[in-house]
Amino acid sequence: MDHCHTSDLISLEQALETMLSQVAPLQESESIALTSAAGRITAAAVISPIDVPPFANSAMDGYAVRTNELNTNAPLPVAGKAFAGAPYTGEWPAKTCIRIMTGAPIPTGADAVIMQEQAEVSEAGVRFNAPVRSGQNIRLAGEDIRQGASVLPAGVKLGAAQLPLLASLGVAEVQVMRKLKVAVFSTGDELQPVGQPLQAGQIYDTNRFAVRLMLEQLGCTVIDLGIIRDDQATLRAAFNQADSQADVVISSGGVSVGEADYTKQMLDELGQVGFWKLAIKPGKPFAFGKLQHAWFCGLPGNPVSAALTFYQLVQPLLAKLAGHSEWRLPARLKARALTPLKKSPGRLDFQRGIFSSNAAGELEVSSTGHQGSHVFSSYSQGNCFIVLERERGFVAAGEMVDIEPFNGLLGN
Ligand code: AMP
Ligand code: MG
Repeated sequence: MDHCHTSDLISLEQALETMLSQVAPLQESESIALTSAAGRITAAAVISPIDVPPFANSAMDGYAVRTNELNTNAPLPVAGKAFAGAPYTGEWPAKTCIRIMTGAPIPTGADAVIMQEQAEVSEAGVRFNAPVRSGQNIRLAGEDIRQGASVLPAGVKLGAAQLPLLASLGVAEVQVMRKLKVAVFSTGDELQPVGQPLQAGQIYDTNRFAVRLMLEQLGCTVIDLGIIRDDQATLRAAFNQADSQADVVISSGGVSVGEADYTKQMLDELGQVGFWKLAIKPGKPFAFGKLQHAWFCGLPGNPVSAALTFYQLVQPLLAKLAGHSEWRLPARLKARALTPLKKSPGRLDFQRGIFSSNAAGELEVSSTGHQGSHVFSSYSQGNCFIVLERERGFVAAGEMVDIEPFNGLLGN
């Protein structure tokens, strides 16, 4: 359709590169309690204050022995017991063993633990019925992590894989990047917030809801400025307020060329903002630039496009600003299309699809159906983007395509 006019459109990669090359991560960080650090980004490498495990301990329930006393097959009487949290500290006479439980400190002098399944207990003591190697079943101090070792680099998001690790080191406080402050508003005379009845010609504001949720999941502090009418003075006031309070301002709507699209005018006046036509579908119109103080992203009005441009462009931008240097673009995988996919050459297409693996373990994907940029339900029906190359045309069932599974922002 717009194949002949797509040479002036900029590619997603170009847009991303331009955005990311302009912004630098925030400089401010803070020290916070580990218990409130979920979702935060490390501002410096985390160094282990201790050895893990902190002392040599038993990997098994069994018997601690001195292997040089095992050369005769005589039974060894049990001299005492060692439990996790209750070490054996008494005398340890020669030619005896110590009953030991998993996690208990290794008694001084022991050099192996024999699992109880390899022990025969009689009145005379314990006899062992399997070969024994010095060092077996002993977890050494520092075997997992050495004191002074770097356990996490800077730029990592703290979640269920990281926080318990820090807890295991006794790290009570962690240095994290300060949260990004992001102001968000929707533009449009037709928009109503949820909870209000719709009048003729009105629709509910989907974009602010979507953007706010995604921002919260990204760990940003959200400044929600609501719905802004298509009126220059109101818009100007909203932009100024947002700019003075936030690191990033995100609006939706008004970035195309309709008669009520004032965003461009506003931004020419208030900052240096470029209006781009992106070679992606959905989501052609997109604005990016700098206000007096904050960065600005203008999302398209159509909800599917707004969420897509947020996901593909704003998400990486926020990751960079927030110091989340370990953030990665969602991986792309190859899958076989089970349904034909409508496509004309000219723009990189992000259709919504449903992927799964078949009995042979191969990935398959089908379309969620209607791909209109107002059909927001395609996100909840789908679990991935089907990413169709810019120059590709109609895709027949059976062809291989790229898919991009939704990450936590859209998926579950
Ligand atoms: P615009 O770019 O402002 O011309 O908007 C393009 C289309 O998206 C129009 O159909 C708008 O009604 C619709 N739209 C704009 N903003 C929103 C929003 N926040 N939620 C839902 N639909 C919107
Ligand atoms: Mg509008």
